[in-house]
Amino acid sequence: MTARRAATSSRSQATRFSSTFQQQATSSQRNKALVATTAGLVAVFAALQQQESNKTQNFWKSAKTAVKETEQKFGTYWPRNIMILFGPPGAGKGTHGPKVEELLGIPALSTGDMLRAAVSAGTEVGKKAKAVMNAGGLVSDDIVVGIIRDRIKEDDCKHGFILDGFPRTLAQTKALDKMLAEEGACVTKVVELEVPDSVLEERITGRWIHKSSGRSYHVKYAPPKSMKKSADGKPVAESMKDDATGEPLMQRKDDTAQALTKRLASYHNETVPILKHYTPNGIVKSVNANQGMDGVWGEVLLALKRGAK
Ligand code: AMP
Repeated sequence: MTARRAATSSRSQATRFSSTFQQQATSSQRNKALVATTAGLVAVFAALQQQESNKTQNFWKSAKTAVKETEQKFGTYWPRNIMILFGPPGAGKGTHGPKVEELLGIPALSTGDMLRAAVSAGTEVGKKAKAVMNAGGLVSDDIVVGIIRDRIKEDDCKHGFILDGFPRTLAQTKALDKMLAEEGACVTKVVELEVPDSVLEERITGRWIHKSSGRSYHVKYAPPKSMKKSADGKPVAESMKDDATGEPLMQRKDDTAQALTKRLASYHNETVPILKHYTPNGIVKSVNANQGMDGVWGEVLLALKRGAK
C-alpha cells in the first residue's frame, strides 16, 4: 500500500514536472518565435524603406536628367526671349526688372548698374563714363554697345535676357538689332513704363539705394524701417539703412533735380524714338506706371503674356 502510494506520488510529481517543463519549453519557444517574427518584420520594413529610398533617389536622378535635357533643348533649338524694359529715369525699371527676372528665369541687364560698377572699380570704361554719368549725360554708344555685346554672350543669357536702360539711342538700337540678327535673333518684346515727367522729380530726388543689392527705397513711398526725420521733416542721412542687411543706403550722384532735367531731355529726344522703331513689329506694350507698385506689376504681367493687347 505504502509502496503503491509512493509510486503514485512519484508519478504525479513526474507528471507535474513534465507539464511545467513543457509549459516552460512552450513559452521559450513562443518567445523565440516572437523574436524571430519581430526580426523578420524589422528586416522587411528596412528592405521596404531601402526600396523606397532607392525609388526616391532614382526619381530625383531622372528628374535632374530631365531638367538638364529640357534646358539643353531650349538652349539649342528655341529662340531667345529678348525683352526691353523701357521708360524714363524713375519709371520703375530697376524695381520691376528683378521681378521679371525671377518670373522668367532670364537675367535683367542694367547698363546703368554695369557702368556704376565700372566707375567704382576704376576701370578704363569707368574712368571714361564717370563725369558724363554724374552730369546726367549719355555715355558713348561704342562703350555701352561693347558692354552689352560681351554680356549677352555669357551662359546665363542663353535662354534670353531683359534689357534695362539699353538701348537709349537709335544708334544703339540698330547696333543691338544687328548683333542679334547675326544669330538669327531679334527683340521679342518692349514693355514701356509710362510716367508723366511731373511725378518723376519727386521719385528721383527721394530715392535711396542699397549699393550692393540694388534695393531701392523712397523717403515717402517706400522708406527704410530705420529712417528718422529731423525737425525740418528731412530724412537723417545716417539713419538710412537697408532693411535686410542694416548697411548704409546711398543717393545716386545723378539723382538730383538738375541732372534729371538733362536725363529727361535725352530720354524724350533720343530714347523715345526707339518705340517707333519697334512698333511695326507689334511688340511694344505700354503700362501705366503712375500707380501703386502692385497695379504696375499686374499690368507688366499682362504685357508679358503672349498675344498681349
Ligand atoms: P540708369 O541707371 O539706367 O539711369 O543709368 C545711369 C546713367 O548711366 C545714365 O544717366 C547714363 O549716363 C549712363 N547710361 C546707362 N545706360 C546707358 C546707355 N544705354 N547709353 C548711354 N548711357 C547710359
